Amino acid sequence: MPIRNDAATTAFWLAGREATGAETFEVTSPWDGRTVGTVSVPTEEQVEEAVAASVAVQAEFAATPAHVRAAALDHVTQRLVERTEEIAQLISAENGKPIKWARGEVGRAVSVFRFAAEEARRFNAGEAMRLDTDGGGTGRLALIRRVPKGTVLGIAPFNFPLNLSAHKVAPAIAAGVPIILKPAPATPLSGLILGELLAETDLPAGSWSILPVPNDRMPALVQDERLPVISFTGSEKVGYAIMDSVPRKHCTLELGGNGAAVILADYASDADLDWAAQRIATFSNYQGGQSCISVQRVIADASVYDRLLPKIVERVEAQVTGDPTDAATEVGPLVSEDAAKRVESWVDEAVQAGAQLLAGGKREGATYAPTVLADLPEGTTLATEEVFGPVLSVQKVEGEEAAFAAVNSSKYGLQAGVFTHDLQTAFRAHKALEVGGVIIGDVPSYRADQMPYGGAKQSGVGREGVRYAMEDYTYERVMVMTGL
Ligand code: NAD
Repeated sequence: MPIRNDAATTAFWLAGREATGAETFEVTSPWDGRTVGTVSVPTEEQVEEAVAASVAVQAEFAATPAHVRAAALDHVTQRLVERTEEIAQLISAENGKPIKWARGEVGRAVSVFRFAAEEARRFNAGEAMRLDTDGGGTGRLALIRRVPKGTVLGIAPFNFPLNLSAHKVAPAIAAGVPIILKPAPATPLSGLILGELLAETDLPAGSWSILPVPNDRMPALVQDERLPVISFTGSEKVGYAIMDSVPRKHCTLELGGNGAAVILADYASDADLDWAAQRIATFSNYQGGQSCISVQRVIADASVYDRLLPKIVERVEAQVTGDPTDAATEVGPLVSEDAAKRVESWVDEAVQAGAQLLAGGKREGATYAPTVLADLPEGTTLATEEVFGPVLSVQKVEGEEAAFAAVNSSKYGLQAGVFTHDLQTAFRAHKALEVGGVIIGDVPSYRADQMPYGGAKQSGVGREGVRYAMEDYTYERVMVMTGL
């Protein structure tokens, strides 16, 4: 079923089968502006058909045996492995992501589907709870199972267009919950290609749809009462607007961050600082800094600051920037020239306010050079917001407490990295930092796809990570047995 061909229109997936609508939109490469594909847009009637089909199949899908759902997930896993190169090329073309990172993204999606297949086999085995621990429960036993809340509306961002789509779809299949996935307008092809793999399985028709609905038509879908769960990954602005518009729905919001890497006084040997500097340089810039957990802030103890800073600058300047198809490229274009212009204006504002520019600070089209700033004044946009570009600021602090306070001064709280060898310090960081994940000995940018992942504060609500998403899509139903 060859649906994808640069010259042809890419179909969407309506209740598990290919369909086309009346309109199309073009997908262009942020690197050279070439047309990467033309995508068909579903009509309102087709969206309605997908929603109705998902509701109609709910009971059947929930009753589909675990081995059938696990086998479908295994199939997608295997096909992603087989088609890795082709899919990586597609991600790179529409997103501008350097090919080495695009290959890595396919590898991550493989893991997500593999974990989902494993979880499908062990999820919802049921839990028994004795109730006779007080008098009223004598002779009673509770059995707890999880049941689907209803169809999930999954909304994905552009920056990991395949893997963050996988994080919505794979747990839904594993839990037997229908899903409608809405990929990002800049990168719909990487979401739609999942449909090719899912269509090779025998999952029930209606259990999944992938619909590139335009943003201005999304409010109707968000409001639809037949879709009780919204799993959104994207910006703070859009995410909270969605949640505010549907206060009675279950919303999981995976939003932005301005990840901090803390380097403490005990992390002081040359080898330590080389490792920290390399990780920081790589993960403040990889895929143009367009990751919600990329390193935006370095908070270094005063005792290591002067030795660390030149090491970071040297490695940031060594980042290979340019053509995303080149295997050596680490930093490609941002998603659009407008995005690069926004980053440029934030850096300009910071420099005018007194920040020192130590590397980068230049834009060429959609590409922004890896940039390092020191002495970033408080109150600048860069100091408070998520830059979502290859820009890093380095801050000097005195001691652990001041370092942790600096991390917590942000309105965001997605993940933090703490470079220390000291176990007690690691435990204190885990306790003190107001984030969803503390990474010891590395940058905040580490994520394993099975672990609970999500934010504190303005970085979001709820958790992804395969099993956690499955719990999110379902609720506990208790049965109390009497007379035992
Ligand atoms: P975005 O908010 O612009 O778009 C996200 C999705 O929402 C897209 O599919 C978009 O089409 C859709 N959308 C836009 N308007 C909508 C509306 N009114 N109703 C419903 N859906 C609507 O975000 P983006 O630019 O694609 O992604 C970048 C953002 O995502 C960054 O802030 C980044 O930090 C965040 N992000 C977070 C995580 C995480 O797991 N926490 C992961 C990746 C990206």
